[in-house]
Amino acid sequence: MVHIKSAEEIAIMAEGGKILATVLYQVADMAKPGITTMELDRAAEALILKYGAKPAFKGYEGFPYSLCASVNENIVHGYPSNTPLKNGDIVGLDLGVLHKGYNTDMAVTVAVGEVSFEAKRLLKVTEKALRLGIKKARAGVTTGDVGNTIQRFIEDQGFGVVRDLYGHGIGKQVHEDPLVPNFGKRQEGTVLKEGMVICIEPMVTMGDFKMKRSDDGYGYATRDGSLSAHFEHTLAITKDGCRVLTVAP
Ligand code: MG
Repeated sequence: MVHIKSAEEIAIMAEGGKILATVLYQVADMAKPGITTMELDRAAEALILKYGAKPAFKGYEGFPYSLCASVNENIVHGYPSNTPLKNGDIVGLDLGVLHKGYNTDMAVTVAVGEVSFEAKRLLKVTEKALRLGIKKARAGVTTGDVGNTIQRFIEDQGFGVVRDLYGHGIGKQVHEDPLVPNFGKRQEGTVLKEGMVICIEPMVTMGDFKMKRSDDGYGYATRDGSLSAHFEHTLAITKDGCRVLTVAP
């Protein structure tokens, strides 16, 4: 069931989204060679608490941390680890904030030090796929229209788009209806309506899009070991388009 949010609920989610974006960009700036993703997790949690919010992922389906950190071939849901990041790595940082009873969800993937030309292109393409999906999202279009836009762009760039994980609605729960796939056919899926709040989150692979459970047993990695990137925003469908809620001031 899709929950339509009132203007008041969306205002609360925008406050939470502002906290989330502020924290996530600070943590992303810390992702330099030598730091561990466990240190990034600790920093993310401390910052969220400092802003008076709660980490939304901690305890969610048994996840024991605040930050998901997915390095290189890891796609999403990676456990933070004590292995230092190396020059040339890419790391996906996915963070959720619970503020006044409402969740927001956001992810960026960042280059650690100097990365390859192809890795840079992967990050750019994934971020642009998210931007195009956001541009498409408005009342009256379907989740399939959004997914089709994202998929066509990614595949035109020669990359793969993950099929087994989706974006989602969000609100009092981290994951609500509808599913928001990053692939699909126009005019299929759920029709977006004013007051829906959704997360769009393309997961892009440099090689084949097929995935497997990663070594930590919780996250997912590419089956062929190719690099993967992930960007995400939380946005509200408005009368004449959409409003991204995970925005830093
Ligand atoms: Mg999400």
